[in-house]
Amino acid sequence: MNAPHFEAPDLAHLAERLPGYEFEALIAVGGMGAVYKARQRSLDRDVAIKILPRELGADEEFRESFSREARAMARLNHPNLIGVYDSGAVDGMPYMVMEYVHGKSLFHSAYQTLVEPNQAVEIIRGICEGLFHAHENGIIHRDIKPANILLTPKAEPKIGDFGLARPPGADSPGLIMGTPGYVAPEVVEQPEHADHRSDLFAVGVMLYELITGVVPGPDAGPPSWLCGCDAELDAICLKAMAARPDDRYSSAREMARSLDQWLRGPVPTSAEGTAPLARTPTRSRPSAGVGFNWVLLRNLVVIAVLLVMIRWTWQFTQAQKARNIAEAERVNVVSPGEEERPAEIATAPRPPSPDPLIPAESPPDPAQAVIEEHPMETLERLRGALAA
Ligand code: ATP
Repeated sequence: MNAPHFEAPDLAHLAERLPGYEFEALIAVGGMGAVYKARQRSLDRDVAIKILPRELGADEEFRESFSREARAMARLNHPNLIGVYDSGAVDGMPYMVMEYVHGKSLFHSAYQTLVEPNQAVEIIRGICEGLFHAHENGIIHRDIKPANILLTPKAEPKIGDFGLARPPGADSPGLIMGTPGYVAPEVVEQPEHADHRSDLFAVGVMLYELITGVVPGPDAGPPSWLCGCDAELDAICLKAMAARPDDRYSSAREMARSLDQWLRGPVPTSAEGTAPLARTPTRSRPSAGVGFNWVLLRNLVVIAVLLVMIRWTWQFTQAQKARNIAEAERVNVVSPGEEERPAEIATAPRPPSPDPLIPAESPPDPAQAVIEEHPMETLERLRGALAA
């Protein structure tokens, strides 16, 4: 269905036609409708009212499915689903009155950011719980994505926008519903075969996206390759995102249990503790998990390369030093007029003197020098002096 151009009605216009509500603000407007914040006078509570374009209201089939969905949604009651309170049409525009959620969508809160894995898993677990309740009541969402999840200030997820929700098997053949990147392969290939596991595919994509900051493509590797997070999460993401529905979790509750178990940490074996079944919730899990850890391998390779580079640098410096010394010696010996220049090796420590009375570092004795320069002459002079 093409998105019709939609001019959001102003607050006064709506307040006049829906007197049960005090319209306070326009929250958001898009091609497919506008969302307002309002106060329900009778119950004195905040509500969000979504108003859809007249073109949609003019389509009888759409009107019927819209009110059918609103009724189905109104029967649901779960903390992770946005409650639906009422629906109808105003000036030919279909509207739905919903629970007002303080907070932003997951898309706005986490777009291209890495969410801390514990928090990401908590959020996804809540989404699974909400979805399980909807699935149990025969409703598939069909458009699970971060833009359709609102996060409360306590980061509790609430699934909204069941606009594409239908009972299983109620699709028109050939009509693909969902959002690229999140839509399961079977929905693209045979939309009429989509079931609750198609929603779980999208949930797996969201978990991957939250912990890595990237929406996975069809051949994406395990998320730990990108984020360095626990490899156990790889198994959960990849199972939810399996191409064949039969390879996915069989229910949202089963996936929620896996996530719950991850949050609690590994179950200690009886050999490791006195209370084998007692599990303590661990809020900070080590990032290395069981199984093959690609991040560890990558880090080892980086360290090995660094060590080789350090060794090469050290060897090169030593060779350079040796060359400098050899060069200095060659210059001292062969260059005429270079005697005046202090030799580069002058500061090297002298070997210790063999005579313990003459300190190695003491300046040379002038008399000693004379003996060394003219030994015979000096000996004669000494003999003369002794004879006298
Ligand atoms: P669509 O899927 O129809 O193209 P959308 O995905 O942008 O639209 P809408 O359902 O139209 O989502 O909601 C738009 C924005 O309105 C949301 O991002 C959110 O900020 C706000 N909003 C929607 N529902 C509620 C609600 N129940 N409480 C508070 N804010 C809401």
